[in-house]
Amino acid sequence: MNPIDDIAGFIRKNQRFALASHLHPDGDSIGCLLAMTLGLQALGKEADALGVDPVPFAYRGLPGVPLIHPPGKSSRPYDALILLECSRPERAGLEGLSPCPHIVIDHHLSCRPEGRINWIEPSFGATGQMVLRLLEALEVPICADIATNLYAALLTDTGSFQFNNTNARELHDAARLVDYGANPGEIAEMVFHANPPSKVLLMGKVLSTLQLEAQGRMAWVVMNRQAMESAGALPEDTEGIIQHLMSIHSVELAAFFKEDGDPSRFRVSLRSKGLLDVSSIAQGFSGGGHRNAAGFTIHQRLEAGIPEVLEALRRFLSGSA
Ligand code: 5GP
Ligand code: MN
Repeated sequence: MNPIDDIAGFIRKNQRFALASHLHPDGDSIGCLLAMTLGLQALGKEADALGVDPVPFAYRGLPGVPLIHPPGKSSRPYDALILLECSRPERAGLEGLSPCPHIVIDHHLSCRPEGRINWIEPSFGATGQMVLRLLEALEVPICADIATNLYAALLTDTGSFQFNNTNARELHDAARLVDYGANPGEIAEMVFHANPPSKVLLMGKVLSTLQLEAQGRMAWVVMNRQAMESAGALPEDTEGIIQHLMSIHSVELAAFFKEDGDPSRFRVSLRSKGLLDVSSIAQGFSGGGHRNAAGFTIHQRLEAGIPEVLEALRRFLSGSA
């Protein structure tokens, strides 16, 4: 049986679901979590949307956000945990959830799924497109609220339909979601034009650390805690900054080093153009992602850990010259 029918069959036969997406949630993870929760509720199922990290400012206006809550002690066991946009409960910060079957719905190339049912399709621009197909298979009426969440997922994961994961199917699904009631102008306004001033201040501070090397093929920036604190910014305010590095015509590979709280570790975001596969570098550092967008965490202080990552990036780039 193909995984979508397998998942639809499992959902029809069961009643009580926990849903979760990855830590540091983005538009695809929040959009999928909300659309799937609303869809299951429309079928008369119990659906608990679990979120360990707060919903980023840009996504707080999405329909159903108040449904997301931190995991607590569940009175009764779940029939399944549905993992969206990630393949393991650790990525969702849910190591300790009571044991139940896991269902994985994800489009990440690098995932290592261990679910009872795993549906992984890296060819989709957004996991939201997979949720759309699953809800249609379940004959859930796609209302404007569900369509809005799925459109936001697709809009953000394709970089406003600019990344090379945008194909005819992505544009076609976007049009279908508009037919179901999503409003592209309103959603773009909510997601991209609602920055707090702290985010723009932080962007200025981070971009002023720009370094270019390898004849401009590689660019990197650093954010330390002082930069974040002096801008009054939150970790989520870093989203989108790395795209400015990719806007430089010569840049093929960009890295963003972020100290966002605990000084004993920092996060690394990588982006690339064309066939350069940064998910392979991220996997080498126990992270993951897609060919052109990947990330990982280094458990060292920022200044101590950056040189090793830069060396790996330089080796990678010279091997692909
Ligand atoms: P970002 O740079 O926006 O944080 O992440 C880019 C992409 O890499 C996203 O698709 C995200 O899911 C993936 N990614 C980022 N950090 C990690 C990580 O620590 N582990 C895994 N498996 N994927 C990551
Ligand atoms: Mn995604």
